[in-house]
Amino acid sequence: MRRITTFFILSFFLILSGCQLQESQVGEPPQKEWSIALHGGAGYVSKDMPEDRKEAYMQSLEEALAIGSEILENGGTALDAIEKTVNYLEDNEMFNAGKGAVFTAEGKNELDAAIMDGSTLNAGAITGVTTVKNPISLARKVMTDSKHVFFAADGAETYADQTDVERVDPSYFYTERRYESLKRAQAEEQSSSLIETDDQKAWKYGTVGAVAKDKNGNLAAATSTGGMTNKRYGRVGDVPIIGSGTYANDLVAVSATGWGEKIMLNVSAHTLAAYMEYKGVTLQESMNYLVDDVLEPGDAGFIAVDKYGNFSMKTNTGSMFRAAADSEGNKEVAIWE
Ligand code: ASP
Repeated sequence: MRRITTFFILSFFLILSGCQLQESQVGEPPQKEWSIALHGGAGYVSKDMPEDRKEAYMQSLEEALAIGSEILENGGTALDAIEKTVNYLEDNEMFNAGKGAVFTAEGKNELDAAIMDGSTLNAGAITGVTTVKNPISLARKVMTDSKHVFFAADGAETYADQTDVERVDPSYFYTERRYESLKRAQAEEQSSSLIETDDQKAWKYGTVGAVAKDKNGNLAAATSTGGMTNKRYGRVGDVPIIGSGTYANDLVAVSATGWGEKIMLNVSAHTLAAYMEYKGVTLQESMNYLVDDVLEPGDAGFIAVDKYGNFSMKTNTGSMFRAAADSEGNKEVAIWE
């Protein structure tokens, strides 16, 4: 009798542990060792763009992707991968961040950036800097070397003085193309038309960002921007506001681009993470909810990677410069749908 009871108890525990194993196999999709996604801004870029310009954009996206992918493939951290990827995009004047940043209404270049480490929930952000060549690198120093999370304008410059980040004269950020965009935006502002064409909306947007999962399973997000053309004195966009344009935790890392005011009013990057966590839905389902249901058509685009190494990139504007890759060899580089 005793033997039979022991047999049944043992069988019960064996079945139970078998069920748990199956459950975890079903519930946890296979993990990709690493993955990365990046964007060079959402907006309304015309499909009629000259072929050589289109190719230059595609090549830049490929090069940026290769930088981050190599770091991750070699076992580097998600933070290093996204910082170096964003540095490349900041130095490339085709994108609205670092060199190539848009102009404020006063004809200046005021840069915003934020970075977040999903494994520690620590973050660093800066707004309104005018002499920092690579704002994302200063944001990283704010995260790792300061007691604070967010420095603004003069304070951010003073903090930069205490670091070894590369400084430039504000004139470094001048580009003819962006200055023309400002003049055009100001002329259009004077006209009485209230309905914007896609062409008019095209100059408004732009930003760069990267999100990654590394081989240790850590997630991180980074975003850097010149903001929106013709922005007013002291305007702060969504990018440096943690949870709006940039967010990472141990579940997902997110970077936004688009109409900053709309992105921040919907606390967008955090909304994507919270919806995943509270609803238990997939990254793609949460991305669809944010882009299709929370935001309105024309507002914004996002890139994200989750803890399994899945990536997702989606916009409800006409275009988004974007690229992504993972350790399984999946790769995507695109501008339009
Ligand atoms: N979100 C940025 C800002 O509002 C601009 C952009 O991504 O296009 O500053």
